Amino acid sequence: MPRVGGNTLIAGSAYNAVDPKRQKPLGIEDSIDLHYKHTFEGGDKLGKPALIKTFVENSYPGIEWLESLGMGFKDEIFTVLGALYPRSHKPEKPLGTGFIGTYEDYISKNKGITVLTDTKVEDLILENGRVVGVKATGRKENVIAKAKNGVVIATGGFGANVELRQQYNSKLTKAIPTTNHPGATGEVMLMAAEKAAANLVGLQYIQLLPMGDPVSGSLSGNIEGSVEDRIFVNKSGKRFVAEDERRDVMTNALFEQKDAYMWTIVDAHTYPTEQGKNNFNETIEDLVKKGRAFKGETVEELAAKIKVDPAVLKDTIDKFNVAVENKTDEFGRKLFANKLDKAPFYAGPRVPTVHHTMGGIEINEKTQVLDKAGNPIPGLFAAGEVTGGLHGSNRLGGNALAEITVFGKIAGEEAAKNK
Ligand SMILES: Cc1cc2nc3c(=O)[nH]c(=O)nc-3n(C[C@H](O)[C@H](O)[C@H](O)COP(=O)(O)OP(=O)(O)OC[C@H]3O[C@@H](n4cnc5c(N)ncnc54)[C@H](O)[C@@H]3O)c2cc1C
Repeated sequence: MPRVGGNTLIAGSAYNAVDPKRQKPLGIEDSIDLHYKHTFEGGDKLGKPALIKTFVENSYPGIEWLESLGMGFKDEIFTVLGALYPRSHKPEKPLGTGFIGTYEDYISKNKGITVLTDTKVEDLILENGRVVGVKATGRKENVIAKAKNGVVIATGGFGANVELRQQYNSKLTKAIPTTNHPGATGEVMLMAAEKAAANLVGLQYIQLLPMGDPVSGSLSGNIEGSVEDRIFVNKSGKRFVAEDERRDVMTNALFEQKDAYMWTIVDAHTYPTEQGKNNFNETIEDLVKKGRAFKGETVEELAAKIKVDPAVLKDTIDKFNVAVENKTDEFGRKLFANKLDKAPFYAGPRVPTVHHTMGGIEINEKTQVLDKAGNPIPGLFAAGEVTGGLHGSNRLGGNALAEITVFGKIAGEEAAKNK
């Protein structure tokens, strides 16, 4: 790609961690064990316990490490879509610019780190069974990069490679868009298996979100704030799922609705002013102006704008507000905060979109790449979405940025000392 950043740069940037500083003042009780339980059970108990343990224990130290490198996080804690619990952190800077900007600053201040953009890794170099480097093609010249101690694969997932994702889930045709950047193609993962005999696990677990922009499939234009404060309605204006559910559960329910199309509904609790921004740095005012979101001073006015029967939408919201009072509803939702009762009201259209590939290269807690027999492959490490085994069948929202931080740091340290 012509610039660094990958999916990280365009991420909404929710980062899950059990936080000894920020959660308590907000009255949120949490524990490492609970984060473990949510991650393990949220992936149908298919994740590797040792990886999950390393992950949950190091997520908060990952925040402290990023802070030590100059990255800022807000004090606010929220629940990002599919996170199942309020432990999502927001960086101070928009999207993934906080993460990538911090690393770029570090690189610019420390001599001896060369970054090659527009350069595609085409092959791994092995010597006597040890991975010692990569061959790559640049725009003008070919590159051979030799590693002193270890090679770390951190090339991300394959959500943007339609052919590859269809090999593992034939339903994911090109008619289904993706949130991913175009460089999420997966060939280095395949290379690791073919060339270095890396074991690949869980490739069939491909995550969709019910949150794609109807035109591009991207997450931009998404008007939701925290899970607690919004509902989803179908084209008839009716709710159809617990909106605090797992991502796969919500997306499957959306596929059952007419045209697999839904509206996210929020109110002034999410946007107290028109200058309020979503996780993608867009103001609600701008989204409404561009026709990507709709606004009504009353529920009925909003319903008319999105061509839903006003009486039905009113009834849906009235029932939801009763559910907020009772903290229980007909769909089994558990996360509630404010009623939807504060004008103005907003609606944003959303469709299913391919988002994350849970499977990939098998690693151990030290990020060493494993072969089919479970033995580390000399010289080879991997971290991030290119790996498999942490999330099981379903990744919790907000767990990926914590994952890449925790395991990226371990991979760097392990590779550096792997003489
Ligand atoms: C729109 C969007 C929003 C998201 N929001 C969140 C969120 O709020 N919270 C959360 O936890 N997760 C989120 N995720 C998921 C998360 O962002 C990703 O899982 C994570 O960023 C992956 O990081 P990575 O370092 O493994 O890969 P990436 O950040 O994708 O980086 C991989 C890099 O490798 C490069 N590469 C690939 N193949 C080659 C090759 N052959 N040669 C050279 N370079 C190559 C790519 O171009 C890219 O630069 C989101 C994802 C998307 C797409």
